Amino acid sequence: SKKTVLITGCSSGIGLKIAVQLAKDPEQRYHVFATMRDLRKSGKLEEEAGEHLNKTLEIRQLDVTSEDSVKKCLAALPGQTVDILVNNAGVGHIGPLESQSMDEMRKIFETNFFGVVYLVRELLPSMKKRGSGHIVVISSVMGLQGIVFNDVYAASKFAIEGFCESLAVQLLKFNVFISMIEPGPVNTEFEMKLMEEVSKSDFPGADAETIRYFKEVYLPAAHEIFATLGQAPDAVAKATVKVIGMTQPVFRHQTNTLYTPLTAMKYADNSGNLSVRTYYNLLFNYGSFFHFSLNFLKCITCNCFRRRVMPV
Ligand code: NAD
Repeated sequence: SKKTVLITGCSSGIGLKIAVQLAKDPEQRYHVFATMRDLRKSGKLEEEAGEHLNKTLEIRQLDVTSEDSVKKCLAALPGQTVDILVNNAGVGHIGPLESQSMDEMRKIFETNFFGVVYLVRELLPSMKKRGSGHIVVISSVMGLQGIVFNDVYAASKFAIEGFCESLAVQLLKFNVFISMIEPGPVNTEFEMKLMEEVSKSDFPGADAETIRYFKEVYLPAAHEIFATLGQAPDAVAKATVKVIGMTQPVFRHQTNTLYTPLTAMKYADNSGNLSVRTYYNLLFNYGSFFHFSLNFLKCITCNCFRRRVMPV
């Protein structure tokens, strides 16, 4: 019989692609409940699901920040059970910290952290009882390594990494697996939404120098990184589907191999200086992230590179 998959945030981006790829599985192993906050945005998913709509893919409403919405959605599932939960819904957040309200920061955690925690908590009892299950989280390389001006977003992804890393040990005893998918930059609406928000703000509370670093140094660098190293959502979905198909799923999977050396820096130097100062130099001394990435990414572990980036 088919495995039941519940995916959050399927109206766009990575979630939409995972839903469609699983629904079109050549071996027909999955029955997908593709959920979204706003059902009025189901058009693109319906179109891409094509003939699989209402066969191997059903669309349901689910807002991860609403306990009521989660409860209603789970209660309406056949047998009220899920074999594979894919926590994909997430929101980004960039900019100088001084201009952010505590309320907007809490909202990032409500979606990226508590949204996952609540769904996991609701589904754990049945997974444990049945002695099977797979919880997948679309985390980020920013769940492993902080990135300048992404302070609260990175913190929310670190939080979910810590939560899952702790839980994964206990759940192995129940034959329940957790997998963190850690993409680098992905060309979805995510970045556009962020840029749109940023263009509307004049960053009250932040000083002129910080705003200048954000707008004139960080934003062009980030844009370049997305344009040159960004993956397609289809590629991230493909990597996720592969992990879902494993009989013994891995705990971590980074989808962009160009990023692996960057995230390895913190493990290569326990003082943290290698990673913090490398990022500092990338941002303020080399002028261009792109220039760096092409010339240095591949030799990041060699000593000549370390000598160049370590002195601040
Ligand atoms: P996206 O904006 O296209 O998709 C995010 C989806 O989550 C949207 O459909 C949005 O409507 C949904 N969502 C937001 N709040 C929700 C809520 N309360 N309830 C239900 N759905 C909600 O962007 P994406 O890139 O496809 O993002 C998917 C995941 O990938 C996110 O968790 C994000 O953090 C992660 N990620 C993205 C990137 C990137 O560069 N785009 C990189 C690494 C990780």
